Amino acid sequence: MRSKLPHIGTTIFTIMSKMAQEEGAINLSQGFPGFGADPELLDMVAKYTKAGYNQYAPMSGIPSLREKMAEKTLRCYGAKVNPETEVSIVSGATEAIFSSITAMIHPGDEAIILEPAYDSYEPAILLSGGIPIRVPLNSSDFSVDWERVKNSITFKTKLIVINSPHNPSGYVWTQDDLDQLAELVRERNIYVVSDEVYEHITFDGRPHLSLVGHEELRQKSFVCGSFGKTFHVTGWKLGYCIAPEKLTEEFRKIHQYVTFSSVTFLQYTLAEYLEKPERYESIPGFYQEKRDLFLTGLKDTGLEFQATQGSFFQTASYGHLSKIGDRELAEKMTKELKVACIPVSSFYHNQKDDKIIRFCFAKENSDLEEALVRLKNLG
Ligand code: PMP
Ligand code: GLN
Repeated sequence: MRSKLPHIGTTIFTIMSKMAQEEGAINLSQGFPGFGADPELLDMVAKYTKAGYNQYAPMSGIPSLREKMAEKTLRCYGAKVNPETEVSIVSGATEAIFSSITAMIHPGDEAIILEPAYDSYEPAILLSGGIPIRVPLNSSDFSVDWERVKNSITFKTKLIVINSPHNPSGYVWTQDDLDQLAELVRERNIYVVSDEVYEHITFDGRPHLSLVGHEELRQKSFVCGSFGKTFHVTGWKLGYCIAPEKLTEEFRKIHQYVTFSSVTFLQYTLAEYLEKPERYESIPGFYQEKRDLFLTGLKDTGLEFQATQGSFFQTASYGHLSKIGDRELAEKMTKELKVACIPVSSFYHNQKDDKIIRFCFAKENSDLEEALVRLKNLG
């Protein structure tokens, strides 16, 4: 048997979460909330399963949820989208990303990804016979090196995959980043997959600039999001994709054979939950408090860091404290300090090790406080 993904193993998120569990460590590795969701949301789930919404949903998502997403998109990003032809509900952002990439990439096409990159982009490109072209982000702050991106474009470039707020660094794209991207794809046959799963987690009043809110970029973009990330229910695996009609048509051709449709009662639940915008508008404040708590304690650990701008991740450098590899350090921390994190080398195809680790602070404050006490023994 010849593997279709010979160089790909089990994801680092699975490995570190398993190790955290086995070692009884506080798990600041895999990105999922360590606290429960809003009880009102959970009550709605019970309501809609009992009401009998347990059969297949329409392939593209239930109309009321697509309409709510159109309203939210107008409210948050000033963009009018057609819920019928431009919004699709799918099984998590992972599926949105996979189906978008699969819809666009033909064998031999090149797709640019910006490294460090989330792990699901590259396999999707490879499975379609595409060629991943990895462009490094600036090492100082993980901003985009636009000159390098420009120099990586060839006549084969079909797609650029972007991610803001960025996992793992938390870098949030500026208006200038969007304009630079627009300039690059203008008059070229290049499309964009925009991973915006952390759209509602930005700090210090910084806005998230969605590609759907950019008049030019939205014409060529698949904007992918995750209800799991926004509402603390990552296990629901429900997400969405917003794209212009022609792109959505191609997207849905893939989606209907990847999963066909996504969990029905959860879609009804979210359609009702989204009726109150404060439910997503309160998310930045909620996470700002956790980020600030975490950063205050992190200052006393000897680790070096720049405050994350978005997402629920904080990266930190330890090269001045230890010379061991980041993966070894992550294992050692999990086993000895009983705090699990993610080695950032896992976000590079060649495991480039800059001695940086990533913490997820979407956890109970008591767990964050205890982890910070333990991390003081790092040096
Ligand atoms: N993109 C990024 C950057 C992520 O961190 C994650 C992790 N959840 C995903 C996509 C996948 O989202 P979902 O769980 O909705 O599939
Ligand atoms: N997105 C999560 C992270 O970065 C992990 C999701 C997963 O395990 N696939 O930690």
